[in-house]
Amino acid sequence: MSQITIALSKGRIFEETLPLLKAAGVLPRDDPETSRKLIIATSRPGVRLIIVRASDTPTYVQYGAADLGIAGKDVLLEHGGEGLYQPLDLGIAACRLMVAVPQGFDYARAVKQGARLRVATKYVQTAREHFAAKGVHVDLIKLYGSMELAPLVGLADAIVDLVSSGNTLKANHLCAVEEIVPISARLIVNVAALKLKRATIQPLIDAFAAATGGTRNG
Ligand code: ATP
Ligand code: MG
Repeated sequence: MSQITIALSKGRIFEETLPLLKAAGVLPRDDPETSRKLIIATSRPGVRLIIVRASDTPTYVQYGAADLGIAGKDVLLEHGGEGLYQPLDLGIAACRLMVAVPQGFDYARAVKQGARLRVATKYVQTAREHFAAKGVHVDLIKLYGSMELAPLVGLADAIVDLVSSGNTLKANHLCAVEEIVPISARLIVNVAALKLKRATIQPLIDAFAAATGGTRNG
């Protein structure tokens, strides 16, 4: 039986994936939150986990360093999805990618007037496509985190960021003004690995599908 490697990120994705792994008979031998190990053995023979940065998950799977992975749709949109089969929407880590502005900033009016907006975001590709489709002129500023800060200190007029409860926006006197796309985590599979190791990989996909009641080909 061939060895299978599953790429996961720590935090939200790992926590919300644990029940699905359990349902697939994959119990991690270490806790990535406390262990410093980046390769984690599991109770399922021939299946191991690797712990990667969330935005790196598609890259590991694309190049076949991992056979499977779990990545947010936000990360997949930025990556482009090349070399990846995306059989399941797991319905976990759900949130929305949104445009947000300081409270009191009239976004609709700025758009209508054809104003040029400075937008700070981690999601430059997705933001570029969104504003281009709307015909809004933007200067995009790439950030790696804490986007909420940017409008507060004059770096940007608006941000594009993930929003779930909206509490972080509220705490920073920002409000969401436009949804770009709903986000949830997807199972991703290396296309070549699926062909070569289907006997091992397909049962895992089926177990995830059964555990989530996930939408196929979502
Ligand atoms: P890092 O923290 O290493 O910079 P990250 O911020 O992308 O990376 P997480 O915060 O763990 O890592 O987010 C991982 C994924 O979880 C995101 O890509 C997204 O799909 C989802 N996610 C992020 N924020 C939320 C949220 N507030 N609610 C629900 N899901 C979210
Ligand atoms: Mg984060």
